[in-house]
Amino acid sequence: MGQKVFKACKNCRALTNSDDAKCPVCGGQSFSDDWEGMIIIVDEESEIAKLMGVQKPWKYAINLK
Ligand SMILES: [Zn+2]
Repeated sequence: MGQKVFKACKNCRALTNSDDAKCPVCGGQSFSDDWEGMIIIVDEESEIAKLMGVQKPWKYAINLK
């Protein structure tokens, strides 16, 4: 329960509501329910955003299986 209301985009790891058809970040349509950890990026210029390789402020899964 809890965080698993989200699914993770297999392309960019963005978390989105489980009933969304498309990834709001990259538009991808392939998702995984098997993910761990959540990180919220508020600044795409931050070191953590660069480390994660994300280009848009959003919430992301840390690990995707
Ligand atoms: Zn995506």
